[in-house]
Amino acid sequence: MSHDQQGPSVQGSTPDTDCSEVLGRVFFFLDNELDQAGCAEIQHHLDECGPCLARYDLERTVKTLVARSCSEVAPEGLRQRVQLSIRQVQIQISRGE
Ligand SMILES: [Zn+2]
Repeated sequence: MSHDQQGPSVQGSTPDTDCSEVLGRVFFFLDNELDQAGCAEIQHHLDECGPCLARYDLERTVKTLVARSCSEVAPEGLRQRVQLSIRQVQIQISRGE
């Protein structure tokens, strides 16, 4: 007697938002250009996905720095530090940590 039970697809009733899709929309999220549904979706994904959250934090930091340096001259050292940390996070993400 074989009991071939193909489990019903209970899991994944709501398809998880794809990471690349989220990262593509993070910029709009930062600019508050997403509607409420979109924002909730991104926010939910960021709550559960570490790499995306790290990326989002980074984008937000850069955006804040850029906005601040619009009135002042951005110090060269700061720019380089930001670019360095962007690279580090990208390396972490591609490693899947
Ligand atoms: Zn993700």
